[in-house]
Amino acid sequence: MANMMNVAKNSAIPSWQQELQSAFTDVNELLAFLELKTDRLDDYYNAAQDFPLLVTLSYAERIKKADWNDPLLRQVLPHPDELTSHPQYLSDPVGDANASVSPGLIHKYHGRVLLITTGACAIHCRYCFRREFPYSNNSAHPSKIDSIKEYLSKNPDVNEVILSGGDPLTLNDTKLSRLFEFLSSNTQIERIRIHTRLPIVLPSRITDQLLNTLASVNQKVIMVIHANHPNELNTDVYEALASLKDINVTLLNQTVLLKGVNDHADTLIKLSNRLFECHTLPYYLHLLDKVNGALHFDSTLQHAKKVYALVQTKLPGYLVPKLVHEEAGEPNKTLLQLNL
Ligand SMILES: *Cc1c(COP(=O)(O)O)cnc(C)c1O
Ligand code: SF4
Repeated sequence: MANMMNVAKNSAIPSWQQELQSAFTDVNELLAFLELKTDRLDDYYNAAQDFPLLVTLSYAERIKKADWNDPLLRQVLPHPDELTSHPQYLSDPVGDANASVSPGLIHKYHGRVLLITTGACAIHCRYCFRREFPYSNNSAHPSKIDSIKEYLSKNPDVNEVILSGGDPLTLNDTKLSRLFEFLSSNTQIERIRIHTRLPIVLPSRITDQLLNTLASVNQKVIMVIHANHPNELNTDVYEALASLKDINVTLLNQTVLLKGVNDHADTLIKLSNRLFECHTLPYYLHLLDKVNGALHFDSTLQHAKKVYALVQTKLPGYLVPKLVHEEAGEPNKTLLQLNL
């Protein structure tokens, strides 16, 4: 937060960008803000070395003070356990490198291409499966739009473009509107999907300007947000999602099942109910991808199935997300069978 004073003076920068620039990046500052003390500070710093801490103030304010076990804190605080390696935990567990068809473009599933728009996020989720993704040579830089265009014209059955990353909404409005103009003018594309965590971790990103850009797109716009715990969905998040709903964006949520965060039926039930209040339907509940450093988030498969079965007995079908896992080389996300 050291540069907050400087940034705040520059009113030309939108407030969401100022908030992003002044996000927590230092372990000790975050711990002090949360009134937490440790004599293992060095271990926490070591854990942050390869994948630094990053948390917005807005998200940090939803973390309970003086509670090491807070489910939101656990998602963002580098943990010494991350340094434990395991032979089954890899740097590209979902096989993205193999499915990359042109820089920044991943075509893994029928009809849909995924565009890596940027490597930047507004938060660093410790369990992220892209934490080791080589973004610098794999982002869809504007200069690569031509090769994407060419790929689409050679693959006429692609009718949906998924903007992913990183987080596409960390791009500034100029870059985003250029991208949406390009997509909107392409009649081959019937749906534009945005995979983003920003409505959750930086709800101020949903500005009038962004809403105008999205409302002006010719195609249907779907936004798949990423919330893992009901405590994440505060009033600011509610308002951001309500404004997206008002311009007819279809809102879906994906969750990652995380040990010590949301691997209890009660938590997942509350999450689904709160999402529905926020005009958002649960879409996927992902089993953890086995990425280096994420071993301490792994619930057993048996536990996942038990929790999921319980959730199913308590909620209407439309509030039960699909329990899936991503397996490299498969033509779709793999649905988990409870009775295996
Ligand atoms: C998950 C994913 C998609 C989208 O899959 P849906 O089942 O349509 O949500 C597309 N491309 C890639 C590379 C993915 O990982
Ligand atoms: S916001 Fe998404 S891409 Fe970014 S670190 Fe979190 S899980 Fe990974």
